[in-house]
Amino acid sequence: MTDRLIIFDTTLRDGEQAPGFSLRVDDKVRLARQLEALGVDIVEAGFPIASEADAEAVRRVALTLKRPVVAALARCIPADVDRAGQSLKPARRSRIHTFIATSDLHLAKKLRISRATCLDAAVAAVSRARAYTDDVEFSAEDATRSDRDFLCRVIEAVIDAGAGTVNLPDTVGYSTPDEIGGFFRDILSRVPNAGHAIFSAHCHDDLGLAVANSLAAVAAGVRQIECTINGIGERAGNASLEEIVMITRVRSDRVLVGTDIDARELFAASQLLTTLTGEPVQANKAIVGRNAFAHEAGIHQDGMLKDRRTYEIMRPEDVGVPHTTLVLGRHSGRHAVQTRCEHLALTISREELDDVYRRLVALAETRKHISDDDLRALVAAGRPVSSSSQVQELALHEAGYGFGV
Ligand code: MN
Repeated sequence: MTDRLIIFDTTLRDGEQAPGFSLRVDDKVRLARQLEALGVDIVEAGFPIASEADAEAVRRVALTLKRPVVAALARCIPADVDRAGQSLKPARRSRIHTFIATSDLHLAKKLRISRATCLDAAVAAVSRARAYTDDVEFSAEDATRSDRDFLCRVIEAVIDAGAGTVNLPDTVGYSTPDEIGGFFRDILSRVPNAGHAIFSAHCHDDLGLAVANSLAAVAAGVRQIECTINGIGERAGNASLEEIVMITRVRSDRVLVGTDIDARELFAASQLLTTLTGEPVQANKAIVGRNAFAHEAGIHQDGMLKDRRTYEIMRPEDVGVPHTTLVLGRHSGRHAVQTRCEHLALTISREELDDVYRRLVALAETRKHISDDDLRALVAAGRPVSSSSQVQELALHEAGYGFGV
């Protein structure tokens, strides 16, 4: 039987923390709606104590979403937990996600506290969070570099205090797949009450291993993966949601877990994020990159024309990549421009369409065809620029919140 893998999306929290990926509150709500359409189990909407804008985003997402659990991040500090709990009030289903570093390096150099103080803070935060919601997740930041005995003691204590999910992040993306598999197997066998919690992996991509490490964790018994659209996140990013999901589909013979994700919404989610942040996806990115389903070499094209399975392990339509034969250029009409905008998750008014269309035709005088990036730029150029998201990001980093699990 296939076990269920819980998809915890942190695009709006870890992803949004990355430079260049700041989102305005309205845009976070829009993306949250797409995450709901995608079918993610948990939407981590922000870190409410970090800024008023983050708290507001969590409140608005909590008000908007109906099906997914809405999570908010909090350090193991009473004021953080209270702010998270208050921000989540409008949610139908809420989760407080509280975290503290457990590695000696972080305890000594960053937090400057003892192991005993760390343990007490973790238990107190989980207990406090339980007063707001039954659904509490605890994360041991830098878990993979923590002393194993101490980590096991912390995990046992937070499960006793009421944490239903225990997340063990590879915060700095240092682990290898065999290592993290062994790590989770060891923890699951040594923590006496491990059976009372769902274990979760949160892997970073500093060595390009976030997805491989997440899968190794799943093979070891983990049943929640923390991931993001397009793999965005701190530094090199988090495990990519679309890759995790499609691996469970395409290789269901090897990966014996399934998700509730509607894969046909993956491309739309990726495009919406790109549009809202203005940060393009690399062309060769798996699943959602511009070249992910492109075939140029003659031998490949020949094979594809004879039988698509020769060079295609999944179909573009399976992940919602639209079949488009429409080339935008000088002879295109308004309808084609509007349709392409819809595919790119660009919502434009009738007036904007007229304006974009006029400028597109002018641009087409100087180049053969208009790319999706050209179209995005044409739409963006007609809109006022907001600097509020940049200010927010700066405040967050200056306040020392530029780290997390
Ligand atoms: Mn992280």
